[in-house]
Amino acid sequence: MANAEILSIGTELLLGEVLDTNSKFFATELARLGIDCYYRVTVGDNKDRIKATLKQAFDRSDIVLTSGGLGPTADDLTTECIAEFFKLPMVMDEAVLKDIERLFAERHLSMPESNKKQAMRPEGAGVLHNPNGTAPGIMWVVPEEVLAGAGVCDPARKRAILTFPGVPSELVSMWAESGAAFIADNFLTGAIFSIELKHYGIGESALAEKYSALLDGTSPTVAPYAGQGECRLRVAAKAKTMEEAKALVIPVAEQIRRESGKLCYGQDEDTLEGVVGQMLVERNLTISVAESCTGGLVSKRLTDIGGSSQYIKLNAVTYANEAKHALLGVSQDILDRFGAVSEECARAMAEGVAKLSGADIGLSITGIAGPTGGTADKPVGTVYLGLYGNGQLDTKLLTLGSKLSRQEIRFRTSSAALNMVRLHLLSRNLVAQ
Ligand code: ATP
Repeated sequence: MANAEILSIGTELLLGEVLDTNSKFFATELARLGIDCYYRVTVGDNKDRIKATLKQAFDRSDIVLTSGGLGPTADDLTTECIAEFFKLPMVMDEAVLKDIERLFAERHLSMPESNKKQAMRPEGAGVLHNPNGTAPGIMWVVPEEVLAGAGVCDPARKRAILTFPGVPSELVSMWAESGAAFIADNFLTGAIFSIELKHYGIGESALAEKYSALLDGTSPTVAPYAGQGECRLRVAAKAKTMEEAKALVIPVAEQIRRESGKLCYGQDEDTLEGVVGQMLVERNLTISVAESCTGGLVSKRLTDIGGSSQYIKLNAVTYANEAKHALLGVSQDILDRFGAVSEECARAMAEGVAKLSGADIGLSITGIAGPTGGTADKPVGTVYLGLYGNGQLDTKLLTLGSKLSRQEIRFRTSSAALNMVRLHLLSRNLVAQ
């Protein structure tokens, strides 16, 4: 089985200025393909060190994925280093040059001389097209004689290199359009199929325990992964054909969905906000949200979904008590007696925002995101959620603890609020469209 190594190139990564999300992306994608990733290396914009990491990577790994250093400036060294490492001349690719020139012309810009560099690559290397930027990459099964010429160990073993620009959006689209298929075609025999089942409301260890019998299986394999307040179960199988792989995975995924019931909210690319949006459409219902401690995060997540104007009536960030009172009609008595972070206030906010906007469902969030501001009986991480719908009021208390950061408390609260809406909607009937 082939294995891969990820090289992240860029001094800004070593200085801690940029978080290396590209390696995380590659690592996840390699796992999805069923390719082992044994090493991840970060190196600065320095020729000798880049060449030394290339030597190390080719000596011990079959597939080398690089990110960064493909730009036009003097500190973009990746392609040059690869050519020098393999002792190959850099050649100009006229077709790539024309592409880059066209891109500048389309933007009514004249192409700086330095961009010509991006059309150069080591002689013989294949091109990895970049539909969203000027820097194409290399996508190349390196010939044995080239490996031998560079002094790589065991040159008869098949090796490949793929280079990507540092800009995450360009890297992701190049991977999706060509990189993943290239690796599958060259290094995978048979097909891999997987389904990720997304769970909310159960921890990783409880999920692992619930499915312990399946976790021991090998075809398909079932593995739990924890996310921010969520858990995923990945069901994957490898077989000679895609049909065979699917036949191994789908029945087990269906069994898990059945047994998990409400705990499983979707699969693969599904999100809580997307699922809630879909459910609102199916039930022909509208929602309004009044947020305090999440500062609009629930509204942001709901409106991230295209077409959400169909079901969202009003998103209000009522941070101050005055706003809760004046806009949502939370009584002064509730604010004085119970405080803004209270079950009573959450109920009044949910009912208030629904009535103010005429939405079918009102959702409210009020709590203490920290790091300061908690009290002994309402410590940081105390959050009340309120939901008004179908003539009823529900509340939920979250005690997220003070160990989480403000961002984590806000994100987990937003997920819990979206999940509360999801559970409410599950209890309401679908309507014929
Ligand atoms: P460009 O053509 O834009 O110059 P490049 O391949 O030269 O692309 P870099 O200059 O190394 O890429 O990085 C461009 C930007 O991409 C950086 O400013 C940084 O914000 C982001 N970036 C680089 N490497 C990573 C990484 N490993 N993870 C996340 N973001 C990254």
